[in-house]
Amino acid sequence: MVGLVIVSHSPRLAQGVAELAQEMGGPEMRIETAAGIADGAMGTDAVLVQEAIERAWSVDGVLVLMDLGSAVLSAEMALDLLQEDHRGNVVLCEAPIAEGAVAAAVTARLGSSLEQVAEEARKGLAGKAAHLGVVATTDEDTAAPTDAAPERSIRVRVEAPHGLHARPAARLVQTAARFDAQIWLRNVTSGRGPVDARSLSSVAGLTVRNGHVLEVLASGPDADVALAAIDELAAERFGDEVSSVNREASPEKPAVTTTAGEFRGITASPGIGIGPARRLAQPDLDVREVRASDLDAELRALDAALATVRDELLAQRGGLVARGRQDEAAIFDAHLLFLEDAAIVGPATDAIRAGASAPAAWRDALGAAVLAWSSLDDPYLVVRADDLRSVGRQILARLLGVELAAPRLEAPGIVVATNLTPAEAVALGPEVQGIAMANGAPTSHAMIVARSLGIPAVSGLGAGILDVPEGTLLALDGSEGIVRVDPPPDVLHRFEAALVASESANRAALAAAHEPAVTTDGRPVEVMANIAHVEEVEEAVAAGADGVGLFRSEFLFMERDSLPDVDEQEAAYRRAAEALGGKTLTVRTLDVGADKPLPALALPFAENPALGLRGLRLGLVMPDLLEVQLRALLRVAHDHPVRVMFPMVTTIGEVRAAREGLERARTRGTEEGDHIAAQIEIGIMIEVPAAALAATHLAAEVDFLSIGTNDLTQYTLAADRGDPAVAGLIDPLHPAVLKLIERTAAAGRALDRPVAICGEVAADIEAVPLLVGLGVGELSVSGPALPFVKAAVRRTDSRAAAELARRALAAPDAAAVRSMLATN
Ligand code: PEP
Ligand code: MG
Repeated sequence: MVGLVIVSHSPRLAQGVAELAQEMGGPEMRIETAAGIADGAMGTDAVLVQEAIERAWSVDGVLVLMDLGSAVLSAEMALDLLQEDHRGNVVLCEAPIAEGAVAAAVTARLGSSLEQVAEEARKGLAGKAAHLGVVATTDEDTAAPTDAAPERSIRVRVEAPHGLHARPAARLVQTAARFDAQIWLRNVTSGRGPVDARSLSSVAGLTVRNGHVLEVLASGPDADVALAAIDELAAERFGDEVSSVNREASPEKPAVTTTAGEFRGITASPGIGIGPARRLAQPDLDVREVRASDLDAELRALDAALATVRDELLAQRGGLVARGRQDEAAIFDAHLLFLEDAAIVGPATDAIRAGASAPAAWRDALGAAVLAWSSLDDPYLVVRADDLRSVGRQILARLLGVELAAPRLEAPGIVVATNLTPAEAVALGPEVQGIAMANGAPTSHAMIVARSLGIPAVSGLGAGILDVPEGTLLALDGSEGIVRVDPPPDVLHRFEAALVASESANRAALAAAHEPAVTTDGRPVEVMANIAHVEEVEEAVAAGADGVGLFRSEFLFMERDSLPDVDEQEAAYRRAAEALGGKTLTVRTLDVGADKPLPALALPFAENPALGLRGLRLGLVMPDLLEVQLRALLRVAHDHPVRVMFPMVTTIGEVRAAREGLERARTRGTEEGDHIAAQIEIGIMIEVPAAALAATHLAAEVDFLSIGTNDLTQYTLAADRGDPAVAGLIDPLHPAVLKLIERTAAAGRALDRPVAICGEVAADIEAVPLLVGLGVGELSVSGPALPFVKAAVRRTDSRAAAELARRALAAPDAAAVRSMLATN
């Protein structure tokens, strides 16, 4: 494919134009910029242009667009600097850079030659000129080729809110170019055309507005199918309103049945599943026969049911925390809140006082609340109605004395359901080969659980899927959002082949655990382990860790009445370092505070502990505590690669004070005859927005940075990570958090300091490409996730990832980012 180089005096202008063109040319197109001069000032530099051309190089050639003055001179000089055999295949094009780049990108994507791409770029102004009526489009621009008279035609009404502006026009051009047919377009409403449908500038010159009628004329072998495809594109409003985000915004929309026996929904959890349709048996919770006894007894029954379900939820939550599945555990926080929700418990209590039985009162109050949640505008909140329904049923079952065992499939198969509650999803076992949901959205908790369990799932399939008889063979593709009902043998074979491939990909991830993680285009990403106990090092090494990126050392200090002395700490760190066999051990200094009390320390009471004396702040007011730990680390660093990392840093002053602490530890150690390291790398955690925003200054003071997204998220979104009342707000993929990650990564790059992420988001397999795209070079995750994070890195193309990151940074909220990832 022809590559593109944008030369401008202004890096921001060049970057903006490149982004615009990339959207049109797709992620695989090479678009490079050469803008500004070495110190970041405005200007152009021939060497930078030459390097950009080499980066964008392909055998199809490179088109160079320049802004003004010296940009043209620099581009000409760059040609002289190019390798001899590359020079002949570069065109310096006089087209305007924005319009030219867009037209060039669309044309290059069609596989056109360098000359055709240049020609389209030159015509880039035609659409704008015609629109403004400045220059009439010439006959030459718009005339239909005369060598093949159109044989077929259709008329379509354009229903795109902004008419055929650049993106819908580009989709039309790309659709037309797929077929072996000559296609022309005529704007019947305005009388413009006909023009060649493969030329973006000509299509733009038709100035097609919303409501205009377009005539599509075609000839050639594929004329009929081409017209059908354009007709379909028009029916979809040229893709302008059916973005994946919008599709997910109406999870209850009817399914699109594309071919007989095929349902299309929304990708919710990737992977292939093949098996018979199965339904989860749900006991009927009928309250009609229940009679109210006396008032106090009914009130007590409701209280008891609420208390029992609360205990059950807490137990389920605890089980998940113990297995390190924090994300899923957080789901139950929201459920616990429903049990205290005055908007449900209040009306239920009132109804009991008015004479209703507890089950009937609860059922009615629950029904009203579910209805209220379901009718909210926000799709993210609508799916919370499912959570409410789930908890509500548990309480109703208690009140009725019905055993609500976690539903299990009686035989292996694909679960077909209207929706799954998270509790149902958590209870799903290995017999579940896939989930096909009529409603729901990828952001529902059940789907988060499905993804973490690796069960392929499609949601939003529409009510029709519920009519599929039990036992009918289904083939489900969670990545494409497709379910085939009773597929014919050839389709089944395709699914089986894909299933074998995905199972072998999982096996391959485990088998390749010890290989480095490198993106498809050669960018290495270190994948390290997060550990809390020395014993976990072995598991991490077995899982292929490139080292330990975060040793949460506070666990050495907890559950004991005295503080570990320097010898005891040394022994623990030394054992961890030895088990790593030469790989780096990153030890975070004690990260406790008023909310994580140490029995051995009398910490002052804090009104607002998350904002109080924690992390490094505490180490600085208790310098002896920090010094003992640093001395132990210096001893181990004498013999092993050990790095020290300070948590909860906010200011440069703190970093400098921590360094002074290190020097004091060094002096004390030397005086007392310790064998200590001459050098030790020091790093800081970026967990506070202020630190991320000042990352350039902080990076200059240290050797590496590691972003603690768990805390960074809570501080950015002003939502306590331990408070279930705000659990719904906590999402590290919120664009505000992503911007801070990007900024930190950029600071690290500028100063050549490695930047890692060690918060939980690093283990979110779907988020891995995004994190790579944001520019981090190291991910630190818990042992079990390691091979899969490495595999996810190996599937990532860093250029496509950068594009994904650009889109995510511009997203309005975390739900939109998650939708992007689900369909990535
Ligand atoms: C973080 O905040 O992201 C982090 C890794 O530290 P912890 O979870 O231990 O606070
Ligand atoms: Mg933290």
